[in-house]
Amino acid sequence: MNNIPEMFGCMVFNKKVMKERLPKDTYKALQKTIKEGKNLEIDVANVVANAMKDWAIEKGATHYTHWFQPMTGITAEKHDSFITPSKDDSVIMEFKGKELIKGEPDASSFPSGGLRATFEARGYTAWDPTSYAFIKDGTLCIPTAFCSYGGEVLDKKTPLLRSMEVIDKQAMRVLTALGNTTSKHVRTTVGAEQEYFLVDKDMYNKRKDLIFTGRTLYGAKAPKGQELEDHYFGAIKPRVVAYMKEVDEELWKLGVLAKTKHNEAAPAQHELAPIYTTTNISCDHNQLTMEIMKKVALKHNLVCLLHEKPFEGVNGSGKHNNWSLSTDDGINLLSPGKSPHKNAQFLLFLCAVIKAVDEYQDLLRLSVASAGNDHRLGANEAPPAIVSIFLGDELEEILDAIESGKTYVKKEKAIMETGVHSLPNFVKDTTDRNRTSPFAFTGNKFEFRMCGSALSIAGPNIILNTIVADELDKFADVLEKADDVEKALNELIRDTVREHKRIIFNGNNYSDEWVEEAEKRGLLNLKTAPDAFPYFKHEKNINLFLRHGIFTPTEVCSRCEILLDNYNKAINIEALTMIDMARKDILPASVFYVNELAQTLCSKKSLSLSINCGVEEALITKLSALNDSLYERINELEESLVCIKDYTDVEKLAIFCKEKIVTNMNSLREVADEIETLVANKYWPYPNYADLIFGVQ
Ligand code: ADP
Ligand code: MG
Repeated sequence: MNNIPEMFGCMVFNKKVMKERLPKDTYKALQKTIKEGKNLEIDVANVVANAMKDWAIEKGATHYTHWFQPMTGITAEKHDSFITPSKDDSVIMEFKGKELIKGEPDASSFPSGGLRATFEARGYTAWDPTSYAFIKDGTLCIPTAFCSYGGEVLDKKTPLLRSMEVIDKQAMRVLTALGNTTSKHVRTTVGAEQEYFLVDKDMYNKRKDLIFTGRTLYGAKAPKGQELEDHYFGAIKPRVVAYMKEVDEELWKLGVLAKTKHNEAAPAQHELAPIYTTTNISCDHNQLTMEIMKKVALKHNLVCLLHEKPFEGVNGSGKHNNWSLSTDDGINLLSPGKSPHKNAQFLLFLCAVIKAVDEYQDLLRLSVASAGNDHRLGANEAPPAIVSIFLGDELEEILDAIESGKTYVKKEKAIMETGVHSLPNFVKDTTDRNRTSPFAFTGNKFEFRMCGSALSIAGPNIILNTIVADELDKFADVLEKADDVEKALNELIRDTVREHKRIIFNGNNYSDEWVEEAEKRGLLNLKTAPDAFPYFKHEKNINLFLRHGIFTPTEVCSRCEILLDNYNKAINIEALTMIDMARKDILPASVFYVNELAQTLCSKKSLSLSINCGVEEALITKLSALNDSLYERINELEESLVCIKDYTDVEKLAIFCKEKIVTNMNSLREVADEIETLVANKYWPYPNYADLIFGVQ
């Protein structure tokens, strides 16, 4: 299909299809549900379901599924066919309203963090009409929320939808207090830039570490890495071009606005960015994007790696969550705008973000924490583990002037009053980019750059929406009570800048000086996932979620438990894989090579000539010592794994994993990588780094 506008969304039950296929009343009722979150009557649902089914069957579908996002971070689906027995032993194709609205998957095997015992198997999925149904692999997929029999939330969509409602409500209160009479809703928008690696499938198949953990647990550096900076935005190789083309097409069919593609900093690393859309849809689309990227890769005999750190020594992969908020009548509230009045409004929303990020650094940090992302954050390739905001020089100068009540002098020497209402217009891109900042203002949105590539962006966006809503709530309280709104507004902005400017940092986030400076400022530096997760349960945070109806205290605790448990399991799997590879592949390879060297040595000596055997002897000596050391470290790692069973508390176990197991893993790898540099290629059991990262042409 070459006609892209025709191809776009052809597998989506979108507005256009609804309009064509639904009776007018049904269409209207459904639009109302989508726009205003109203419940859908069952008879309306029946009509919608039937139309969906007919449409899906015409497109070759035979099944439907409630597509949901459990706490695994990926999506889940259970397919049911449309067949229903009828007379004469035949079947008809049927899909009822109640099947569209609600599903009851046996949910006992999804992570619930102790919320539900296995015998309470029942879980419910509920249709999210704000995200369109679509067809994937012959199945009609209905985006749904997922909760337990007792009503506890078991997924990532429900709290995200709640957080969107909360920020809508609070932002509207602020807008109304500021005199806005035209906007009805405020929605957050997200564009998620997705990084990934491609490796050859045949090579991948030979590496248990990639298969079981998604990253290389061993691997000596290749002679060349990314030091020449020749891959970033470089010409794309033909095999990758073909892959990217198919990914784009598959995504377009599903209505995903795939827009930009390019080579990234590391060899074999690439990026795909969509055009932003409403947060809920953006999250669904990012999940679909990751799935399609993996699936299409296989067709090209490639494997798409979404792990945050597949290879040591070159950059890992992240995901930049571009976030903003706009009204239904098209005002981007983080856009500086042109009129002074709009500038004041902009500054207030900006201040809400500044205050939120400062007060809830811990939540933002933990929303991106994972075993995989621990390899990136603070490793000079991604932001540090310290959360801070980049605003750029001009904005910072403006805020400084507001804080001190001084006159702001615009760069072109035009003199401006510092009163908020007389703030100058400052256009996009007046300052340079700061690629090192974890949370950067980029003209009319914030770019949260700490997310790992494999992460579901629902988590960080639940946090972002909720914390900013919380600040807007407090601002609205002040503005609603104020006799002089303009004065109150100015004071809010000035006080926020005064109290929270410590979170603003425009310098180099990768530098050691910043780590020191941040400590002086009292900013948190939660270096690893196990350090960050427990903050979820801090009273301040539990109260935040409770106040806005996002999570109950029990749900917070269960989520915290799931995060810690996932971390522990990831480390355990990596450690077991390392032991297996070292014992069964690496050590034998090295021993066999030593044996060959020894045989050579013997044969040489048996010639009873005075031939020099220095190389053989040196290598045998060196490798034998390394093999001993390897063997010892395998045992040490194995012994530390045995201790896991002594822990009943996930939090303590996570600390043990980080301190003991990860340390033992690193020291095992160190020897194995050195051995790799000495053993002949024909003995080495795996494709090496050079093969893997330069192997796709
Ligand atoms: P850059 O990262 O170079 O600033 P782009 O303008 O290409 O560049 O934006 C990167 C991502 O941010 C894209 O996915 C884009 O759709 C998204 N984006 C742009 N505007 C917004 C917005 N108002 N809200 C959310 N995301 C946005
Ligand atoms: Mg960007």
